[in-house]
Amino acid sequence: MNKNILTSALAIAIGTATLTGCQQAPSSNVVVEQNVVSAEQQAQQFSAQFIESLWQLSPTWALYSGYQKYADKLVVPDDFSRQQTLDFVKAQRAMLSAINTDELSPSTRIDMALVKNTLDSMEWNITTFKSWQWQPTQYNVAGGFAQIINGKYAPLDERLDSVLKRLKLVPQYYAAARANIENPTLEHTKLAIMQNKGALGIFSDDLIEKAQHSSMSNDDKSLFESRVLEARQAVMSHIDWLASLKQDLDKNGARSFRIGSDLYEQKFALDIQSDLSANELYQKALNDKQVVLSEMAKISDKLWSKYFPNTAKPSDKQAMISQMIEKLSVKHVKRENFVEEIRNQIPALEAFVIKNNLITLDKDKPLVVRETPEYMRGFAGASISAPGPYDKKANTYYNVTPLDNMNEEQAESYLREYNHWVLQVLNIHEAVPGHYTQLVYSNLSPSLVKSLFGNGAMIEGWAVYSERMMLEEGYGDFEPELWLMYYKWNLRVITNTILDYEIHNKGISKEQGLALMMDGAFQQQAEAEGKWHRATVSQVQLTSYYSGYRDIYDFRDEYKALKGKDYNVKAFHDEFLSYGSAPVKFVRELMMEK
Ligand code: ZN
Ligand code: ZN
Repeated sequence: MNKNILTSALAIAIGTATLTGCQQAPSSNVVVEQNVVSAEQQAQQFSAQFIESLWQLSPTWALYSGYQKYADKLVVPDDFSRQQTLDFVKAQRAMLSAINTDELSPSTRIDMALVKNTLDSMEWNITTFKSWQWQPTQYNVAGGFAQIINGKYAPLDERLDSVLKRLKLVPQYYAAARANIENPTLEHTKLAIMQNKGALGIFSDDLIEKAQHSSMSNDDKSLFESRVLEARQAVMSHIDWLASLKQDLDKNGARSFRIGSDLYEQKFALDIQSDLSANELYQKALNDKQVVLSEMAKISDKLWSKYFPNTAKPSDKQAMISQMIEKLSVKHVKRENFVEEIRNQIPALEAFVIKNNLITLDKDKPLVVRETPEYMRGFAGASISAPGPYDKKANTYYNVTPLDNMNEEQAESYLREYNHWVLQVLNIHEAVPGHYTQLVYSNLSPSLVKSLFGNGAMIEGWAVYSERMMLEEGYGDFEPELWLMYYKWNLRVITNTILDYEIHNKGISKEQGLALMMDGAFQQQAEAEGKWHRATVSQVQLTSYYSGYRDIYDFRDEYKALKGKDYNVKAFHDEFLSYGSAPVKFVRELMMEK
């Protein structure tokens, strides 16, 4: 059935392409059946088959997106599967290019652009970036199995049956991984060892035990046990192999984790989808850093006598700001009230947004603030847990981890970080009108493509943008302390971009990187070390917060100028969010057209 839809969509698509040619050359006598299927319908059919074929090609990606139809398949990452992906890209591109995007609704036009970008990324990763050769972290079977074992989408017996089938190719999977790995970085090799050790936890006696108590036949039960043991053995052998590879790299040197300017620009274009290049964004970040630092100095200068009546003001501006931040940070909520305080702030934020006519909020979709469930507590923090696109009716939760597992010293340090003022900025970012509000809008945009292939820079950028927007609209009554803390928080986002760019393009050392964060942006050592590590095993992702923010802010200025006295901030936000999680540059195109 799929094949039929596919063929007819393709045929119709080609028909429309001819029509376009027709418009360009009116003398042409080709007239094809118009209105049989509109471009819009064509695009919808194309999207549906694209997603289904993609899940078939990448069952693990599907599992992470909440789609379990191909759960029993494990793809062996060999030449054959890479060729299959390239063939897929080629076939999908042909179908896509036959759709006349000019005739599409704005929302569907964005969908087609997102699909195109997804295809470009898939191809680029295989043929140009080749992370499958130099990032051993790409190989770990645990994630897919965990999705099935912990997922509640089907009865346990059914899921165990998928596990049994999926287990079959685990040894081949790791054999292919070893055949692929060539000249890897030391950092990815170390991380792969650590992560695969974690994977051993999945193939536990407990899992075998579960199968023993299931409704499986006795033959299947013994097959299950032997496959789990084989998988365990395969992971252990792989870890041994990586460990000896690591020794070799330690001794003889390894490929640098820094990807260099060419690959960086290409990856930036595909992942961020901004009109700016990575270098242009970096220049903006350098500039913003100076602006923010000078604002922080002005505020600290003004507040000095209030907080340090008997202490001379340091002549060094960085030292003055740093002391002021430390002084203010002691004002924080008690550890036992942390969750409660967050719970109480949400209604106040909503009331502010409504009273000041900033965004239309959907009152039917309340945000549930809860203590983070035990199984999700990797580290302390706050996060939004959103229902996946295949599970839209589920609640949206604001997970807040209580400080129960911290000793006094850790709790104090954490509470100073999330002090009285920063906690408010955090709630704006995570909840209202940040991630949570954006998500409600995103779920209204009924496109599966946008939910699945939405733009991370837009999503993070919106949350970062909303912090500043709230303060500019008067949230907190222009209290200088709040602004100072906001700037510190914003400086972190700016510094993420500078750090990531300078590591991969300018080859700065770890010492320089740590100084950039600690001396340049008032961060603590632990945070800076963590960020450094993250930047050695990822590329570009750290720029997404700032790039999305900068793009939205700059676009708003442009839009304001266009609308003149008709500009209205609420109308801007409502329309901006109505396009779902699309790259800012596409939303800009559509809104500037009107
Ligand atoms: Zn304290
Ligand atoms: Zn965020």
